[in-house]
Amino acid sequence: MFAKKVNKTFLWGLRNVSAPKQAIPVAVARQQHTRPETSSAKSLMDIGTRRIFNEDHDIFRQSVRRFFQEEVIPYHSEWEKAGQVSRGLWEKAGEQGMLGVMIPEEHGGIGADLFSAAVLWEEQMYSNCSGPGFALHSDIVMPYLSNYGSKEQNERFIPEMTAGRCISAIAMTEPGAGSDLQGVKTYAKKDGSDWILNGNKVFISNGWMCDLVVVVAVTNREAKVAAHGISLFLVENGTKGFQKGRKLEKIGLKAQDTAELFFEDVRLPADALIGEVNKGFYYLMNELPQERLAIAGIAIASCEFMFEETRNYVMQRKAFGKTIAHLQTVQHKLAELKTEICVGRAFVDNCLLLHSEKRLDAATASMAKYWASDLQNKVATQCLQLHGGWGYMWEYPIAKAFVDARIQPIYGGTNEIMKELIARTIVNQK
Ligand SMILES: Cc1cc2nc3c(=O)[nH]c(=O)nc-3n(C[C@H](O)[C@H](O)[C@H](O)COP(=O)(O)OP(=O)(O)OC[C@H]3O[C@@H](n4cnc5c(N)ncnc54)[C@H](O)[C@@H]3O)c2cc1C
Repeated sequence: MFAKKVNKTFLWGLRNVSAPKQAIPVAVARQQHTRPETSSAKSLMDIGTRRIFNEDHDIFRQSVRRFFQEEVIPYHSEWEKAGQVSRGLWEKAGEQGMLGVMIPEEHGGIGADLFSAAVLWEEQMYSNCSGPGFALHSDIVMPYLSNYGSKEQNERFIPEMTAGRCISAIAMTEPGAGSDLQGVKTYAKKDGSDWILNGNKVFISNGWMCDLVVVVAVTNREAKVAAHGISLFLVENGTKGFQKGRKLEKIGLKAQDTAELFFEDVRLPADALIGEVNKGFYYLMNELPQERLAIAGIAIASCEFMFEETRNYVMQRKAFGKTIAHLQTVQHKLAELKTEICVGRAFVDNCLLLHSEKRLDAATASMAKYWASDLQNKVATQCLQLHGGWGYMWEYPIAKAFVDARIQPIYGGTNEIMKELIARTIVNQK
């Protein structure tokens, strides 16, 4: 049914991208030496750069760029006021084959590679529109179903999620438990073959619009280690006892519907459980590196956007009879920023390559998340400074990029937690 609705011409290019199914082998990537890296490209956002990509990815990137230009940018200010994007946008993204890109075709996804998903993360940041929670839906929530869900769960939900008709969220954080995931209190109690779910979650991205939520809950309060008593459940919107709170007012991500969720005696059938009981923490630990890599990829792409925006600004803005780009302090600042962004880009591209070969370990993903999101905030502060007072005005893209950057060192595990994870591999090594 879904196949009839998607744009086949568009997907032709995308399916070609997935032809090798997994990574572009390193040897092939090295052969693509004619593709410039961003440090020597004209713009940091040029199409046709970076050896991790090939021409099929470029064709895909062109379509995604056009999609954001035509379907997202013109409406984003409206969505910022509404605190959410439209459902129609999700369905259009689904029709264009832009959701569930990395999910295998046999599970109901598009079946393309990690690099195609990275194109989507990057192009969204190049559009400077943080509203649509596509990456969270496609690359963070959908893998829980695809990797650990039953055949029935996959058949029921994944094609709808790929089509943008079923929007998803993941609910880990609670008012009293964020960094300390093992401290969650939401409890699912067995009742015959059913489960009765009670608790509440906060700060849930896509939380207001979601049709389906993956909920982290305790299923064994007696477990010696809390991590061994946690499970994941699928809760559908409309289930009795499941209520959404208000859309939270945030300093950034204005068009993103972040919400509180409440579960009061929610009766769930046995097949709402994802995978095995009490294995939830293990599943989370397995999937978090991909979430952290996505945050890092988003961070570097945002840096590239902010840099180009600022380069254009300083080349036009005049002070003391010349453009401010003539000032040596401004030139040196841009030189510093470009160097740091290109260094970050090289590390994150390498992480993408490693992850495409299933070799990205948790500590390396944490390094990418922490370093890239801190860099994003540094670049945001310095690029806004180069805009002077105009940078503080909401109508200037740099102002939005600045406030959107602030969440990146916080979610997906705070950067302090990232350092904990990195440190463990340093001092615990024999
Ligand atoms: C806009 C937004 C979207 C979000 N989306 C989601 C979502 O979709 N799903 C979801 O489940 N959650 C989501 N979150 C929640 C986010 O992941 C948490 O806010 C984050 O993990 C931090 O938890 P906390 O807010 O409880 O802070 P706390 O854990 O209370 O931390 C407070 C401070 O203490 C520090 N700290 C805590 N423990 C340690 C330690 N051991 N060592 C050193 N420092 C420490 C932290 O680094 C932080 O600086 C979102 C949050 C926001 C704001």
